This record gives sequence, C-alpha cells and structure tokens, in this order.
Amino acid sequence: MSIETNTVIAPTFDEWRRSKEALSRLECDLLLSHVTNMSRTQIVTYPDQRLDRAQLNELEALGRALSEGTPLAYLLGEKEFFGLAFEVSPAVLVPRPETELLVELALARMDDNTRLLDAGTGSGAVAVAIAHTQCNAQIDACDKSDQALEVARANARTHRVQINFYQSDWFAQLPDHKWHMIVSNPPYIAAGDSHLAALTAEPQIALVAENRGLAALAHIVEQSPNFLHNAGWLLLEHGHDQASSVRRLMTNRGFLEVKSMVDLGNIERVTLGQWYE
Ligand code: GLN
Repeated sequence: MSIETNTVIAPTFDEWRRSKEALSRLECDLLLSHVTNMSRTQIVTYPDQRLDRAQLNELEALGRALSEGTPLAYLLGEKEFFGLAFEVSPAVLVPRPETELLVELALARMDDNTRLLDAGTGSGAVAVAIAHTQCNAQIDACDKSDQALEVARANARTHRVQINFYQSDWFAQLPDHKWHMIVSNPPYIAAGDSHLAALTAEPQIALVAENRGLAALAHIVEQSPNFLHNAGWLLLEHGHDQASSVRRLMTNRGFLEVKSMVDLGNIERVTLGQWYE
C-alpha cells in the first residue's frame, strides 16, 4: 500500500511507517528523521505527529529510491563508521563495518611517529578514523577520483583531523615520500561476480578489479615496497576468498610475517606483512 499524495491530509509518522511494508522500521524512522529534521527519539516519541505535504512528497521519493536499491547511506548523505558520522555521496563506496578491522589493525601497529598512507581513500573513512584516534601521527591519503577526494576532505574537516590528500592513481602521482605503513581497501570484486547485482548504485571503480578481483591488490603489493620505510607495514582488505592469494602475492614480493586476520563474521578480511630492505 502506498499513501496517495493527492489526499487532503498527509499521514502521521506512524501511518506513513505502516504504509511502507517493504521497508524496515529502522529505515522508516531514519527517513522520517531525515525529512523532518527531528531526532530518531523524537520520531518514536511522537508517532501521531502529522507530516506536511512537502515532507510526504520527499519521503515517498526516498522510500521509492530505497526499494529500488539506492543505499540508505546515499539517501541520508551519511554513514556511521568507527563511531563517527561520514558524509557519503554516489562518488564513494559506502563504508562497511568489516573495514573497521583495517582501522583497528593499523592502530595496533602505529604510534605518534608513524607516517601512514591510505591508498584509495574514497570517503576518507579509514584515514579519518585513524587520524581521529592517533591524533599526532602524520596521515596521508590518495585517490584517483577528485569527486571522492572532495568528500574525503569534507569528512576530514568535519572531524577536525589534519590529513594530506593527493590525487593519484595508486602510487603514480604521489610525492617522493616513504611511509611506515600503507593501508588500503581497494576494489577487489571480480567483474561478473553475482554480488555486484546488489551494488549497482556504488562506483564500480571502487568495487571491481580485473584478474578475478586481484588486479588492484597485486598492483599495490608490487609497488608498495618502493614507498615503505624499512620494517614498514602493508595492510590490505580483500574479499572473503582472496586471503590465500594475497598472502602468496605478498610472500612472493618479499614481505615477511605475512598473515591474514578475520573480521567479526570470522572471514579472513585483512592480510598484512612487513617490508625489510
Ligand atoms: N566489501 C565490499 C562488498 O563486498 C567491497 C569493497 C571493495 O571492493 N573494496 O560489498
């Protein structure tokens, strides 16, 4: 059932919610909160408050977009990651909870003197979360997409962290620096993977890689030693079935102490190793 937008009186919060059988309670409340500028607590507290016509029209459009597969984060313009609210747009991948593992593993291996590069930063979620926690470390981030960099810069400003951003296709246009740690959540889904059918709203450049999804991972493994200090770390997020391939790539390139770490779903999600000159 959908509410007729030409009826005289617009529905209450609760009536609108009940008219949206295809949406979850949480989705409805987040959309209601978004269009009314009220908190979720207020939405829940005042179920009988009436929407106005403009709010109803906006809600109906958002509800439709959500049912058609637009990620909720794009409709709301933000997504929570590592306890921080990140601005997102269709120019960037929506930060995923499993990527918090990459942040945790990086933080556990760094201190205030670490200079870290987030390669392919997208929304900046990983770099900003790290900079927000390890305030005195020097954090750099790069991305090929200038639209993504705009989003990342906005997120760094919002969370008041100092990050140097570079527009660069992986390492190609970076300044002549070396880092103690390089982290990346690169595109790693194979072209044609059935998983992609559910991800059509997100930038394919952030999701899909040649060579069964391994092309960007292999490129980073190959190039990163040129940009790492002695004993520097490389930490890579990858797909659920790519851990052994990434371990092999890193071991063959000469990384030591190579191992994979599991995410909360018990899936090997990040592989890391150290580079010795
Ligand atoms: N983890 C994401 C997904 O499977 C993909 C992210 C990526 O390719 N870097 O939806």
